[in-house]
Amino acid sequence: MPPFKKILIANRGEIALRVLRACQAMNIRTVAVHSTVDRNLKHVGMADESVCIGPPPAAESYMNVPALIAAMELTDAEAVHPGYGFLAENADFAERVEESGFVFIGPRAETIRLMGDKVSAINAMRQSGVPCVPGSNGPLDDDDTRSERLAEEIGYPVLIKAAAGGGGRGMRVVENPQDLIKSINLTRQEAKAGFGDATVYMEKYLTNPRHIEIQVLADAHGNVVHLGERDCSMQRRHQKVIEEAPAPGITPEQRAHIGGICTEACRRIGYLGAGTFEFLYESGEFYFIEMNTRIQVEHPVSECITGIDLIRAQIQVAAGERLPFAQEDIRFSGHAIECRINAEDPDSFLPRPGMVETFHAPGGPGIRVDSHIYEGYRIPPNYDSMIGKLIAYAESREAAMARLRGALEEMVLRGVVTNIPLHQRLLADPGFRSGGSNIHYLEQLLKKKPS
Ligand code: ADP
Repeated sequence: MPPFKKILIANRGEIALRVLRACQAMNIRTVAVHSTVDRNLKHVGMADESVCIGPPPAAESYMNVPALIAAMELTDAEAVHPGYGFLAENADFAERVEESGFVFIGPRAETIRLMGDKVSAINAMRQSGVPCVPGSNGPLDDDDTRSERLAEEIGYPVLIKAAAGGGGRGMRVVENPQDLIKSINLTRQEAKAGFGDATVYMEKYLTNPRHIEIQVLADAHGNVVHLGERDCSMQRRHQKVIEEAPAPGITPEQRAHIGGICTEACRRIGYLGAGTFEFLYESGEFYFIEMNTRIQVEHPVSECITGIDLIRAQIQVAAGERLPFAQEDIRFSGHAIECRINAEDPDSFLPRPGMVETFHAPGGPGIRVDSHIYEGYRIPPNYDSMIGKLIAYAESREAAMARLRGALEEMVLRGVVTNIPLHQRLLADPGFRSGGSNIHYLEQLLKKKPS
């Protein structure tokens, strides 16, 4: 018996297709929702039913809560999968879904709320024994002297961050005391304008960390496992470009240790579903920065090295089923690397929507393509520029890189410009190839001329 009869997919693009594929494999019927420009999305054509929920702007379609609830009622869907982005981390939406008698495939609304505010998330995690970045341990108030004293104690450089921030926005590095108060005020203003919440906090700015995150999965019966770590240090403007699992140089002992801390924290807060603990890793230490209470773009690399289908597991635990495996059943083997393929200008990085004129997907052993594009598909200008993900899996990092290079070479994509040349450059770069570079590596590389 499938855990649900019918699931509504409240998203678009590659993740909507990924969720649809998981539902098909579980014999669950699917409802696709789409905006008026998204009628031709691949998953809309594949779903059992589809509902147009509004015009192109996301606020009026993919984030239109009444339209989504109405679509669930209309189609008799039992549960909703929010994917990532849009309403995936919106506690009010999760609450509305449950109040309307449907299941939200994700954590409880109160957990989403707790983790959505970075200040409360850090406090909850610190109390649960998770190591955090030294910082203000709470919001900054209007007392400038207190903020100045705090920054001195933490030690410059410090980072001012918006409690409601996300997507790499709402952060400002402060190098010296003269700039502190001005920077706090500017970040407050930006936070208010961008996220509707002026709350900011202070953290030590780690100068050369790596971004390493832990994937967790929890059911409603107190069972929690971790699926090891991912290294997401290849970033531009705090946005991930390439992700891999496992993280180069992390030992099985370190993995078990930090993974154990995360699963214990999940038990303490009664976490449900899939989630990610994001850490900065410097000089052998992990520092928690935030938790994502949803499936992430980079989840496939963890799936490759564990053989676990994360979306299937999300659906199972949302239906109240027990996790079908325990920590000791999870084996880590091989290495997986993911490239985010964006339709963007290779120099300015600005989105470049357009028509896919030719598309040949690569294939072969160890190659996975998670993408909704096809020949004749027109990428609309209204949403994110990511048009798919290319993932390579092999027995070693070296072999995965070789497969990925081959697959990038094999892929034919005409009509749109993409960041494929950037991925090719990185895969040929000795620094990236040696593994374990920090979060500034890619931006430093971009300042140099391509060799
Ligand atoms: P968002 O929710 O916007 O993704 P995060 O808190 O996850 O914000 O941080 C995103 C990125 O910003 C991190 O991956 C890292 O590159 C950088 N960053 C965040 N906090 C710090 C810090 N204390 N020191 C140095 N870099 C940081």
